[in-house]
Amino acid sequence: MIPVTQPFLPPQEEYKKYLTGIWKRNWLTNMGPLASQLEMELKEHLNINHLLFVTNGTVAIQMAIKALDLQGEIITTPFSFVATTSSIVWENCTPVFVDIDPKSLNIAASKIESAITEKTSAILATHVYGNPCDVETIEKIAKKYNMKVIYDAAHAFGVEVNGKSVFEYGDISTCSLHATKLYHSVEGGLITTKDPDLLKKLAIMRNFGISGFDSFSGLGINGKNSEFHAAMGLANLKYIHEIHEKRKALASLYDKKLVGLKAEKPVWHPQSEDNFAYYPIILESEELLLKLKRQMDTLEIFTRRYFYPSLASSLPYLPKVEMPVTDDIAKRVMCLPFYYDLTFEEVELISRLMLRIQNN
Ligand SMILES: *Cc1c(COP(=O)(O)O)cnc(C)c1O
Repeated sequence: MIPVTQPFLPPQEEYKKYLTGIWKRNWLTNMGPLASQLEMELKEHLNINHLLFVTNGTVAIQMAIKALDLQGEIITTPFSFVATTSSIVWENCTPVFVDIDPKSLNIAASKIESAITEKTSAILATHVYGNPCDVETIEKIAKKYNMKVIYDAAHAFGVEVNGKSVFEYGDISTCSLHATKLYHSVEGGLITTKDPDLLKKLAIMRNFGISGFDSFSGLGINGKNSEFHAAMGLANLKYIHEIHEKRKALASLYDKKLVGLKAEKPVWHPQSEDNFAYYPIILESEELLLKLKRQMDTLEIFTRRYFYPSLASSLPYLPKVEMPVTDDIAKRVMCLPFYYDLTFEEVELISRLMLRIQNN
């Protein structure tokens, strides 16, 4: 059996060392020393000044919307994980979908302006597969119309664009450290912003809105994460370079071995490099995708239709909207097995099988 993804786990001994410390201190959660250390090390690793370690990537998006006091309509992408859209609805705002660019698979910046109304308060865009959005154009539009920008950077851990962290763009960026992501803390999320006041507000919001002994400064939630999760984050961070190198090598082997497959890859932002979070391919037709998927499933090699279907046409709590590019791409896109422990032999096998199935 080959799964589509599998979490990286550090050597157990290294995780246990952190546990010994936790037992000694008997401090399990509430901004403990490991959570603080993780925040410090991540800031250094990502080369950013402000960052919060929170419960998960979904709560991070919800807190971002809340902290920016967003109301009314939020322009967003239909080609993302459901948490991007559901967070908008959860915060009592209305998602307004803008179709994606067929090359980058990110929200089409050129189509944003025509979706703006008097009620638009923000843009919430996803860096799909870690590929940066057209951040420059989005920044210009946001300035012109005085709107906020949030990036769902759940896939974009470690990505740089124009020589700096992609988390530097927008008013707030959020990331997911879920077990299935490139870098994880079992469950976890990050919130980043360049604005120190906004960070302070978010830090208080993360802790029920408590701003001091017996005092509250606003609405809050339990967005904290535990020492056990921080320990996993710290243990994994030591291996991030190794993880990156292995995934890069696996991806280039797929590239080489899949020549002849009737498929394309998303086009990456020219001023950025792939973080190898996923290995997505866009097949020539849905028919070919289904044929490949069906036969690979029977061989217990699991691929994933990610993202499928379009969020604009599948959520029971929203009216259905046609998004021609997204609807088309979502039908043809597939992520191949891709994770640290995947072997080069397995990549060769998967590639060989896919070509054989296609050509049969
Ligand atoms: C994983 C993911 C999320 C949610 O993150 P969690 O940590 O699982 O809550 C949000 N957006 C995107 C694009 C994701 O892939």
